[in-house]
Amino acid sequence: MPVKNTKTGDLKRSFNRKPHKTFKKSCLLCSKGINHVDYKDIELLNNYVASNGRILPRRITGLCAKHQKMITNAIKRARVVALMPFVKE
Ligand SMILES: [Zn+2]
Repeated sequence: MPVKNTKTGDLKRSFNRKPHKTFKKSCLLCSKGINHVDYKDIELLNNYVASNGRILPRRITGLCAKHQKMITNAIKRARVVALMPFVKE
C-alpha cells in the first residue's frame, strides 16, 4: 500500500515487490550424459574459455563440480600440447 512522504509528498515504494526470479542452472554435460571430456575436443572446450583465453568460472559456465574439473583439466592439457592458447591479446 503506497504511503505519502510527509516532506516531499512522493509516494513511497510499496513493499510487496515480486521476489527475485531464481532459475536453477543445470549442468549441460550432465544433461548430455558426457562422462569424459577429451582434450582434443577444441570445439567443446572453446565454449568454456573467455575471449582472452581464460577458463570461465563455474558460476558463469553453470557446470557441476565434476564436469567443471574435467573441462579445466582438458583445457590445461590442450594448452600444453599447443591446441589452445594460454593467453590471447
Ligand atoms: Zn555435470
